Amino acid sequence: MNEYDVIIIGAGNGGLASAATLAELDKRVLVFEKHNIPGGCGTSFRRGRFEFEVALHQLSSMGTPEKPGPLREQFRRYGIESEIEWIEIKELFRVNFPDGTGVSIPADRKACEAYLMEQFPAEKDAILRYFETVYAFADESAKFADASAKSTGEPGALKKAVMKLLFPKMYPTLARYGLKSTQEVLDEFFTSPKLQLALSAYWCFMGMPPERFPWSILAKCTNIYMEDKPFYLRGTSMMMNQAIMESIRRMGGEVRLNLGVKKLLLESGKAVGVVDDNGMEYRAKKIVSNISPLATYGALLEPEEVPAVAREYLKPYTVGISAITCFIGLDCTPEEIGFTTSFTLNYESFDANKDFQDAYKLLPEHDPLVATCYTVDDPAVSPKGTSIITAGTLKYGTEWEKLSPEQYYEMKYEAGRRIVARLEAMYPGFTSHIEEMEIATPLTHMRYLNHPGGAIYGYEQDLLNSVFFFPAESKIPNLEFASGWVNACGFGPNYLFADKLAKRIAREV
Ligand SMILES: Cc1cc2nc3c(=O)[nH]c(=O)nc-3n(C[C@H](O)[C@H](O)[C@H](O)COP(=O)(O)OP(=O)(O)OC[C@H]3O[C@@H](n4cnc5c(N)ncnc54)[C@H](O)[C@@H]3O)c2cc1C
Repeated sequence: MNEYDVIIIGAGNGGLASAATLAELDKRVLVFEKHNIPGGCGTSFRRGRFEFEVALHQLSSMGTPEKPGPLREQFRRYGIESEIEWIEIKELFRVNFPDGTGVSIPADRKACEAYLMEQFPAEKDAILRYFETVYAFADESAKFADASAKSTGEPGALKKAVMKLLFPKMYPTLARYGLKSTQEVLDEFFTSPKLQLALSAYWCFMGMPPERFPWSILAKCTNIYMEDKPFYLRGTSMMMNQAIMESIRRMGGEVRLNLGVKKLLLESGKAVGVVDDNGMEYRAKKIVSNISPLATYGALLEPEEVPAVAREYLKPYTVGISAITCFIGLDCTPEEIGFTTSFTLNYESFDANKDFQDAYKLLPEHDPLVATCYTVDDPAVSPKGTSIITAGTLKYGTEWEKLSPEQYYEMKYEAGRRIVARLEAMYPGFTSHIEEMEIATPLTHMRYLNHPGGAIYGYEQDLLNSVFFFPAESKIPNLEFASGWVNACGFGPNYLFADKLAKRIAREV
């Protein structure tokens, strides 16, 4: 019988974690994955003697074994924590400024405050007040989320009026900063452009300039990384997702690789099952889509089946940014070439708005460059005496989609050449050590993930799409979404979101 409690479309982070939690709660689950390996973005590939990580630079919410974060607790429940060698990253990141100077941010609140106060003594008090605010914001957000999860039903007019009055008193930091942009908050606290960039440097990795980037996301991200520390793992994120898949199977769930879903079945407007690529039908009480709402509604349903209310709901959200990434294997150690920090954010200007506009162009010029040398924190990630580096810049897919196949290859290698030239300028001799190199463009992400525009973080993460307003609602009964498109995008947030969703679904099926 092809009948299940829950069917999950896609074995990315969100799909796998939903399935694992549901299987843990004794639900009959079936996961379909069109690719021949699980993981979605969270995967790896081999070139020569190197195994390259596709996406993960830093895993959030892990915490240490002694002070576990929510993700470590979740992995303990799945029985996979001890199967993986976790690597704690000591330095959050290094920012290289346009004038050749830079700062390295420790992944610890006190150490970070002390370091920044030493670097920017004129802004000492503001630095302390800023971190106080970041922590108060994170604390109040967590309390507000808990309270919201406990309240049941739609609040009546009276309750709404009371909440409106009480909210600023109960959650003063959340009320004051919840809807502010990163730039607004930085301007309130700091005057030094370097300090502002040091504290918002993640913007070039997350793909929204500070004027549009929700401070709520930056504050939570800063707090989570400082408290739960950034982690990597031995064997790439593929190991982690492979382990979750095995855990699903151990707990009685099914994962079918190399088998996509081509149709979502509706009856009286409700989701009741799916059809796989071979035309086989399966039924379930709930369907969880781990792919974008756009692809779910657009590719798995006929246009007339998509509720008008779903189109209306998604209308304000815009498809987010993609990336050009060079995956590079060097025949030397990181020290030989001058890499001392695993995660480096390199800026050639302080004008974030201009830099962001450049992300719409086809080729990298002066775009901020994100470079990760995985070998710095764990020499064993690559063969002895070698290093693995990924370096790239965020780009929208639009210009790439216009290219002919011949132009595509030419432009892809030109993009690679430009990124390598930037690395050569920073680390003289770099080029002569390249042993292997592969390049991913927005079209690569589109091809492997089926994501519109090759978006790597789902919808644009702007003020509209933040803490309070993620487009997580499904407008089809019995259909749910669990992916980076409906939540703060990233490994940690996705696993945690899917866990929460699965617990709710388990109570309903
Ligand atoms: C270059 C890059 C760098 C990143 N760096 C970081 C980082 O350092 N830290 C961090 O936290 N996050 C990072 N991210 C983001 C993170 O990888 C994503 O947020 C996350 O992996 C998305 O997971 P997801 O659950 O949305 O699923 P996805 O990864 O989008 O996977 C969806 C899955 O669905 C499958 N699928 C699609 N259509 C079908 C179908 N019809 N039937 C069956 N299966 C289907 C796909 O094959 C895929 O496996 C990065 C992403 C990229 C690309």
